[in-house]
Amino acid sequence: MISQTYDADDTKFGRYGGRFVPEILMPPVMEVAEAYERLRTSQDFRADLDGLLKSFAGRPTPLYHARNLSRKLGRQIYLKREDLVHGGAHKLNNTLGQALVAKRMGKTRLIAETGAGQHGVATAIVGANLGFDVQVYMGEVDIKRQKMNVYRMELMGAEVIPVRSGSRTLKDAINEAFRDWAATFDHTYYLFGTAAGPHPYPAMVRDFQSVIGREAKEQIREADGQLPESIAACVGGGSNAMGIFAPFLKDDVRLIAVEAGGRGRGRTERTADNGASLGCGTDGVLHGALTRILQDPFGQILESYSLAAGLDYPGVGPELAYLTEKGRVIPRMADDKTALRGFRELSSLEGIIPALESAHAVGYALQNPEELGEMAIINISGRGDKDLQTVMEYENL
Ligand SMILES: *Cc1c(COP(=O)(O)O)cnc(C)c1O
Repeated sequence: MISQTYDADDTKFGRYGGRFVPEILMPPVMEVAEAYERLRTSQDFRADLDGLLKSFAGRPTPLYHARNLSRKLGRQIYLKREDLVHGGAHKLNNTLGQALVAKRMGKTRLIAETGAGQHGVATAIVGANLGFDVQVYMGEVDIKRQKMNVYRMELMGAEVIPVRSGSRTLKDAINEAFRDWAATFDHTYYLFGTAAGPHPYPAMVRDFQSVIGREAKEQIREADGQLPESIAACVGGGSNAMGIFAPFLKDDVRLIAVEAGGRGRGRTERTADNGASLGCGTDGVLHGALTRILQDPFGQILESYSLAAGLDYPGVGPELAYLTEKGRVIPRMADDKTALRGFRELSSLEGIIPALESAHAVGYALQNPEELGEMAIINISGRGDKDLQTVMEYENL
């Protein structure tokens, strides 16, 4: 049986997870672990977080019965509407939770990494709202690609620090943020963006995101009187997927993790051409955890690729790696074209423009309806307004 527990000394999910960080980062990582261990059961902390989730983030989000999509696929499809969370995606569930942890720890400054800029924006939101100094590490390449999000962060008072090392993208931004933290942790909290990284981040981020699954479970029982046959969610690092899956782990519900199949070509020497660490990765250490990663035979990290910037990460959270190995979570892939189909069809059928990330789960469902069973929930992790330019450019190629 899968046990979903949190234990300050038990840092692993099977053989995955752990704390593979340089000596100098052990003190801050332990400090976060101890603080979270204390706060996770505190009524007072929970009440603060629930209050902000409700009044600021806009929770609970609806579980919407997608009538037209259901008719088309010949089965009942429900959408969990994380696109309606303030900021346009599930990310604020995590940044609100961690910012409150940082407050209780007495920290005054937040640092974060960002790829597409979505997590940077969600961190800038909580920084402005809760009164932190915020600095966000972002690869130089990503800064050029994501000008709007850079501007959003700056509007909300965050400083964006360009990262010029490595491939000048997300994984390099994470390395730089860790470097900063090693020198500044007396007043600085590292607000990590997904259910990956060293313990306790994978468990903590899962816990903060599992509000998605808790709500969905209650809502589906009310709407349909029973649990769904399956749940599909897209996977970058795994936070929205773990968030909706976690409350269903012990139930008889098929959990489908849809990764970025990218261009749908095989890997070459330097790039994986996809973001599918569960499906195509091998065991290795990345950003403080043993997990499934995209690497070459020499252990060098391959460049990942997806049209959806939020899925463009060469690793995945350790709990998803573990659940996949156990057979509890089923890893699947949707390539760029499949995601674009999901993007278009959900827009035209239901009047909901999904994020390109979420569109991977929708596209997969459109292509493989039989795998969903009679009734399914698809997690719509975010809204697609940020992706219009990308889609327009892709279609003009
Ligand atoms: C960041 C992002 C993702 C991917 O991150 P996970 O941690 O895997 O959830 C998915 N969807 C949206 C809308 C995002 O912004």
